[in-house]
Amino acid sequence: MALNTEQTNELRRAIDRRHKALIAEIRADVAKARRESFGELAGAAPDSGDESVAALLQDLDQFDVSRDLSELRELEAARERMASGEYGVCIDCGSDIGFARLRANPGAARCIGCQEIHEKTYAGSGGPKL
Ligand SMILES: [Zn+2]
Repeated sequence: MALNTEQTNELRRAIDRRHKALIAEIRADVAKARRESFGELAGAAPDSGDESVAALLQDLDQFDVSRDLSELRELEAARERMASGEYGVCIDCGSDIGFARLRANPGAARCIGCQEIHEKTYAGSGGPKL
């Protein structure tokens, strides 16, 4: 493991802070969504234009929550890797991820090279296959 104790502790604190912030964000989003649905029930019947905007906003809210949830899962996986001593090592190629990258993204599970390949694979999955 290339990270020293001090670096690991710093990243652990960063993960904890981000984890707490995400849970607060998700709670706030859910509370807001609840308030909005109560508002819809209480309000006068909206015209169709308002309804479609409301539906769009609701979709965006759900997208925000699901993005927060996937980041939360990344952080929890990072905690597990930290507990098992695998943190900071790329899950694909086994090389060191590097402190600078981890500091920018404490949930990172891959080195930059493998992350790029991973994202290309994902981006290309919907396209035509040769
Ligand atoms: Zn790698």
